[in-house]
Amino acid sequence: MRICDRHGCNEPGECPAPKSPNSPDRWYFCEKHAAEYNKGWDYFQGLDKEEAAARASAEQAESAGYAEAQHYGWSGSGDGSRSADEMRALGVLELEADADFQSIKREWRARAKKVHPDVKPGDAEAAEEFQKLRLAYEVLKAAEERREWKG
Ligand SMILES: [Zn+2]
Repeated sequence: MRICDRHGCNEPGECPAPKSPNSPDRWYFCEKHAAEYNKGWDYFQGLDKEEAAARASAEQAESAGYAEAQHYGWSGSGDGSRSADEMRALGVLELEADADFQSIKREWRARAKKVHPDVKPGDAEAAEEFQKLRLAYEVLKAAEERREWKG
């Protein structure tokens, strides 16, 4: 059985946590230390200010239980190749974990078209939905580009 990776802890380590954003490398913590790691986990890291602000506002709309459940999401992609951000972005677009980038692009375009500010001017709800979709697509596009880089 795995032991918690936190130094000096001998509890079973059953909660995977990424060592860095979008890294397939994982720590394995006990529940207590996973929660502690979550608290210190800056997942806005690497985003520019505007993007971080957009993401923060998009997330306020989401469930309050998310922070507690976060480390369970990290193990959600099956093969560990998708980050929690990607999994959530796929959720926004209502796509499966193994969706390829073509279907991601197709889904983003189809959904964005319906709530685009040009189509629904002055509609705050539509604008918010559009931002959420845009952000999800940005996350997935960036991840796709990183994978291409690595070959
Ligand atoms: Zn521990």
